[in-house]
Amino acid sequence: MASQSKLPIATYREALVSSVRENQTLVVTGETGCGKTTQLPQFLHEAGLGEGGMIGITQPRRMAAISVAHRVSEEMGKSLGGTVGYQVRFDDCTSPDTKIKYMTDGCLLRELLDDHTLSSYSIIILDEAHERSLATDVLFGLTKRLLPHPLGDGSLKQRDRPLKLIVMSATLDVKRFSEFFDNCPIFTIPGRVYPVSIHYSFTDETFDPMKTSYLSRVEQVVMDTHMEKGPGDILVFLTGQQEIESMCDKLFKSAERIDYEHDVLCKDVLGLAILPLYGSLPTEQQQRIFKQSERGIRRIIVSTNIAATSVTVDGVVYVIDSGYVKQLSFNPRTGLDVLAVVPISKSEAEQRAGRAGRTAPGECHRLYSQSFYNSLNQNTIPEIQRASLSSVILDFKCMGISNVIEFEYLDPPEERMIAEALKQLYYFDAINDKGQVTPLGRQIVQFPLQPNLSRVLLKSKSLECEEAVLPIVAMLSVENVFIRPSSKKQALESMEAHKELQEAGGGTSDFATLLAIYKLAMESGNQKRWCRDNYVHWRSLKTAQSIVGQLKNILNKQEVLGDSTEEIRAAPLGERVRQSLCFGLFSNAARLAPNRRSFRTMDGHSTVAFIHPSSVLFGCEDSLDWIVYHEIVDTAKTYLRTVCPVRYGWVKDLLPRLHEVDAYRLSDCERKRSLGGEEEEKEEEGPVSKKQSLEKEEK
Ligand code: ADP
Ligand code: MG
Repeated sequence: MASQSKLPIATYREALVSSVRENQTLVVTGETGCGKTTQLPQFLHEAGLGEGGMIGITQPRRMAAISVAHRVSEEMGKSLGGTVGYQVRFDDCTSPDTKIKYMTDGCLLRELLDDHTLSSYSIIILDEAHERSLATDVLFGLTKRLLPHPLGDGSLKQRDRPLKLIVMSATLDVKRFSEFFDNCPIFTIPGRVYPVSIHYSFTDETFDPMKTSYLSRVEQVVMDTHMEKGPGDILVFLTGQQEIESMCDKLFKSAERIDYEHDVLCKDVLGLAILPLYGSLPTEQQQRIFKQSERGIRRIIVSTNIAATSVTVDGVVYVIDSGYVKQLSFNPRTGLDVLAVVPISKSEAEQRAGRAGRTAPGECHRLYSQSFYNSLNQNTIPEIQRASLSSVILDFKCMGISNVIEFEYLDPPEERMIAEALKQLYYFDAINDKGQVTPLGRQIVQFPLQPNLSRVLLKSKSLECEEAVLPIVAMLSVENVFIRPSSKKQALESMEAHKELQEAGGGTSDFATLLAIYKLAMESGNQKRWCRDNYVHWRSLKTAQSIVGQLKNILNKQEVLGDSTEEIRAAPLGERVRQSLCFGLFSNAARLAPNRRSFRTMDGHSTVAFIHPSSVLFGCEDSLDWIVYHEIVDTAKTYLRTVCPVRYGWVKDLLPRLHEVDAYRLSDCERKRSLGGEEEEKEEEGPVSKKQSLEKEEK
């Protein structure tokens, strides 16, 4: 394809290939959009460097993995899933012929569980390393162990043929990556960047981050730009799907009111195309982003942070930056991760602005003030230092890395966070009080789910109600089941429809509603239509369907926990389902308070919380006693979402686990193990890591 040869990376093809040939590890950096992700794997494949195994490229975002694989297979003239494939959670599009495999970093992490040496790969490329996602950060340390001495710590058996490792990153902080791999070479792809002028939409007097919402200005700034400025697409950075969809609606309405004869100053622009861009956007709609606009049409792309580095939208000349991003962070009160809207960092603001200057000089409009910018952190805090570590730590333990404190992290998480994760794993009986993996832990790790939901599934198998529980867990794993339209009339209609669905589920629990939706949709002749009529996202339902199949495969391989007695089987199905839910979600148990309206959580914090108005149990509080919930939401009030009544008898034996073990005792166990305190796990320890930990103790 002609466009490929125009990318900045094309000039460096030979030099890149020889660098990879000559080095065990290499850091490759270049401006976003220069062609790293789409081109480098093809170069290496064509140069025969991938003959000993696949070339695996990790992406922190699922959508990037899929869309890039599409693009590369197209460029190579192959069908997707053949030579070029992808794998993301719940979606594997690869075959035995696959040579170039794009995948999420989480998927590679899972592969490491089964294949400790990654024997099917010749080259691993950790892409988008600057994003510092939790899984990529952890993969740094894990893949290093696979490299030959002296780079790796020799703790893993050597592979037949040494693995090559490439770290790819936008032009940020790359020295750190090279230092981590014993100062490996850095290959910089020189980029063309054009100047971008920065404009602040607020002065210090007019901007108050507590009161001024960036949303109030987006529409105006976008429309002003469109009416007054020369050709070029506009890229708007907002924070999430709902916000983006409703902004697109608004912009669409404003666009309809434009009089092109009189209003618009730039006569080369004859129309507008408004396109949303976010991670869960259907693939066909994503592909529209990569089609250049027709002559005379200006595109407005309203995106999450995904367009900052993960995907490159060509043709952008104007960037409008809200200054905010939705970010995963650990809520110590609930022990769970929450997605919260937070200010971006300075380097992220620069990255966003840079999107305007890829092909010509551009403009960036920041919907904040200069002082707000000055107050931002220099860099984004790596996810490993702000997200829940329990899944990762269970992975470590199952890989035989028994001391998780002394693991070689690029940036170590606080020990407090590790202790918290150990405590959670202990709650779920995935590790014992010495920090060793239990048989249940080895089963839990098989599922691409949070430990609590894995427990729900395992229990359902022993209570012989997995056919009902599998769809529930699948529905909990997809985003957005319910459509909640913004227009008043439709919003009312959707509420009516959802009420009926709740009744169809028996009106007793929100989990039962999810099951009813799944079943009714399956039984309807036309699923798509059924979903539309009932204000349910059809795509989510289809995804849930495929998830059920995959979880079932894993569940079938698991041995049943405990025994299923006659008595248990005699219990009504609904009881058994609720009991299974309780077994996984017991740390989310809450009890009705004496006021008979609010609840108190049982996680040790005794938080006062209310049933969410969208719940089928909203308004029925008085009739309840014990409940478990799937989600806790902090807004003005604290709400419990997706709720189910349970019996005290089911939680009473589980709840004490929440108070039995002190997190610090667990992390003490980790440290003792590194000092050689525990014989039986000694052989799993790497000799070098032991030495390092001793050194640390001395300091
Ligand atoms: P980098 O990884 O260096 O940021 P990429 O390899 O992702 O760069 O992008 C190189 C070019 O390929 C960009 O111009 C981008 O727009 C284009 N591109 C990337 N993905 C797709 C896709 N799915 N469809 C069409 N074009 C794409
Ligand atoms: Mg890239």
